[in-house]
Amino acid sequence: AVMVTRRMSRRRGWRRLVRVLEELEEGCATPVGRLRQVVDAMAVEMHAGLASEGGSKLKMLLTYVHNLPTGMEKGIYYALDLGGTNFRVLRVNLGGQRSTILDHDVERQPIPQHLMTSTIEELFDFIATKLKDFVGREENVSGISAEETRELGFTFSFPVKQNSSSSGTLIKWTKGFSIQDMVGRDVSQCLQEAMSRKGLNMQVASLVNDTVGTLALGHYHDQDTVASVIFGTGTNACYLERADAIIKCQGLLSTSGGMVVNMEWGNFWSSHLPRTSYDADLDCESPNPNDQGFEKMISGMYLGDIVRRVVLRMSQESDVFGPVSSKLLVPFILRTPMIATMHEDDSPNLMEVARILRDTLQIPDVPLNVRKLVVKVCDVVTRRAARLAAAGIVGILKKIGRDGNGGTASCKAKGGGQSKMRRTVVAVEGGLYTNYTMFREYLNEAMGEILGEDVAEHVIIRVMDDGSGIGAALLAASHSASLAIDSI
Ligand code: BGC
Ligand code: MG
Repeated sequence: AVMVTRRMSRRRGWRRLVRVLEELEEGCATPVGRLRQVVDAMAVEMHAGLASEGGSKLKMLLTYVHNLPTGMEKGIYYALDLGGTNFRVLRVNLGGQRSTILDHDVERQPIPQHLMTSTIEELFDFIATKLKDFVGREENVSGISAEETRELGFTFSFPVKQNSSSSGTLIKWTKGFSIQDMVGRDVSQCLQEAMSRKGLNMQVASLVNDTVGTLALGHYHDQDTVASVIFGTGTNACYLERADAIIKCQGLLSTSGGMVVNMEWGNFWSSHLPRTSYDADLDCESPNPNDQGFEKMISGMYLGDIVRRVVLRMSQESDVFGPVSSKLLVPFILRTPMIATMHEDDSPNLMEVARILRDTLQIPDVPLNVRKLVVKVCDVVTRRAARLAAAGIVGILKKIGRDGNGGTASCKAKGGGQSKMRRTVVAVEGGLYTNYTMFREYLNEAMGEILGEDVAEHVIIRVMDDGSGIGAALLAASHSASLAIDSI
């Protein structure tokens, strides 16, 4: 009798787990009809954000970048890329013609966790020191010791209100950074001061968001690049907008040209987004509640934590996982690279899943069918993220008339009233896209579903490795070139 009741309770436990999964699937559903509503909402919010300051949750920030690199940039430029999990310093040697990068060096390292919440001086002194060491080593190798000021492109991947293409103030922190007295401060100036404290002779020639750097490198390699997207610790997009469409700064810009607009789409919100109780809890408990709603459903900082919350719930609902592990209560303990590993585990018995459950969450001996369930949770969460990301991209294409439905702007008339979609390139950077195959595949699949294969065929998503850093160096180069022309 004991055996029978135990088996019955185990079966009941399993049924509860399946119910948690089914509810999750329902809550995360992204049929193509809903994705199209997200596309429309994105385009509408873009209009609203361009119409007036504060007109939308999309800030649609001005960048003062009017010209993207042409391929003629020349000389040696440095770049500093700060704003995600890693921090990079780069040196780029530009050939001066046909988009040739003669060579480039990158040094990556994780940002020490405590610096994200320390003081302005500590954070910037750390960066300036790393930069100075890097410059020293590079110049030793090349035998050049630059007496003149070196030019730097600074990629700072947070919302910034730019005053020019080389300066601006921090609007707010995202992605777990929080140094309160930095908000409102001039970002370039903070770095400039730290560099002079460290005795490094270098000039911030361009201050850019990572999206803008990535767009710059994309455009340098391929002139059909019109937008860029980051899928990393955070997520965001920028694109090239016509000046006359940026209503909120009419009069300030000449109506003929264009400008890159940093959307800050991480803060996008729409009632059409499929939101679950896990999302609501994650938001509540985050350092920035009611903020960055789109980012919290999509980006690498959060996907692992959504999965953790679902597994925690499953473990509370049924004893199949054994007693609830205290590790399951630790926010962000399950990192997105781990859910990628579990999701893509192709070992016969899901040994990777077993390993991560055991080593990271201290849940030993989980039966195979339960491990399969955990994989399914990763799948549901990542698939929703990737499909929403695709809808976001199509939203931009729609706004600029490149979604195949546009009028004359998007289409080139071609015999018999037929029109042909123009080749359109979207540059992308970020570990979530480059390292997580299933995310990438779901995103590409959804692009095809939303646009239709005949249109999607003309939209090329192109990965720009280190795009945000190299792009900042390119913009520093074009900035100094235009200064030189101005002074003639
Ligand atoms: C920031 C953006 C940035 C994005 C990707 C977001 O959290 O607000 O400025 O572009 O992350 O790094
Ligand atoms: Mg980055």
